[in-house]
Amino acid sequence: MSREGSAVAVLARKVIEAQGPIPIAALMRLANTALPESYYRAQQPFGTQGDFVTAPEISQMFGEMLALALADQWQRMGAPASVDLVELGPGRGALMADVLRIWQRAAPSLLAAARVTLVEASERLRAEQKRALAAHADRLAWSDRLPGNGRPLFLIANEFFDALPVRQFVRTAEGWRERLVNWSEARGFHEVLGPVTRAMEEPEGDLWEHSAESMDWASRIGERLAADGGLALIVDYANRPGESSFRGIARHGKADPLVDLGAVDLSAGVDFPALTSEAGGQGAIAYGPVGQGSYLRALGIQTRHAQLAARATPGQRRELDAALERLTDAQAMGEEFRVLALTGPYNPPPAGFAAQEQTGSEEAPQCS
Ligand code: SAH
Repeated sequence: MSREGSAVAVLARKVIEAQGPIPIAALMRLANTALPESYYRAQQPFGTQGDFVTAPEISQMFGEMLALALADQWQRMGAPASVDLVELGPGRGALMADVLRIWQRAAPSLLAAARVTLVEASERLRAEQKRALAAHADRLAWSDRLPGNGRPLFLIANEFFDALPVRQFVRTAEGWRERLVNWSEARGFHEVLGPVTRAMEEPEGDLWEHSAESMDWASRIGERLAADGGLALIVDYANRPGESSFRGIARHGKADPLVDLGAVDLSAGVDFPALTSEAGGQGAIAYGPVGQGSYLRALGIQTRHAQLAARATPGQRRELDAALERLTDAQAMGEEFRVLALTGPYNPPPAGFAAQEQTGSEEAPQCS
């Protein structure tokens, strides 16, 4: 059966027939999470058998470094007796498992203080997370939103924001027009330009991407940090101002985002300056974004690598070397992936960032 007949494609077509071409964001929502047949709820995205490999699935060292950064912040906040640990889009649960394992070993009173909330759209992945985190079952909860105020917030999000829907606007001679998705018998799904619209702000370049859902998350995270303090670590690849970053990913390569709806991961690069100003508007302080490679090195990943390598078999040692290179090398994930840290207004600069990496501070220009 052709994918044109998939539940996602059928619904997208019906919506377009009823009301005309739809924003890319609407299509992303349908394709990624809205239906039981949507990508994250029906497919197996992760690992060499899946469509892409993420940092925590490459090596435990990634999650261990983030775990130490969070624990360090908690320590320097005076070790508050109860905290929220939240992960957005935990996938198969590998990152959270590494964080909780390190806290158990290196900061048991932090683990004891933590209530864990997992924000996950897919029932199937919630079940996988439950299995991966079975050792900590009594402190886990799943939710669609951040827990309410009152406790310091420690939050991690790896490759979550890139899965959130974006709208695209294109500069034309007549003015800004939205890039929309249409469907016809002859052409299937295809892009068209909508009527001239007033863009919500005047962006640089000839193309502007806007993710309302990302802004909403950034705003809520900023609000919580401003009220309760803590640390949020957001890791993802960035979009480039003026360029389209909307894409499909399947089988470890690029795929046409308008073909095989529901079978392909639809994603877009993250607009870090927009996240920063949204969270900043709520009173949070931003650091970075900096390259994942330099961030992990600043946190001591090379020392951890040497420790693990010292007791590894030759085969394991080769794997550790390859993982370190993949996570940190500028030619691999080290530069493409960026780390943004957000803290409360009265918290110290987080580990891995120098004070002058505070975004928008007077001493330093924005670090990008
Ligand atoms: N952090 C994991 C997985 C990244 S993939 C890792 O690094 O391996 C994106 C994750 O976000 C998946 O778990 C997906 O199901 C989830 N997700 C995507 N869109 C979502 C949404 N709108 N709400 C909640 N979870 C979402």
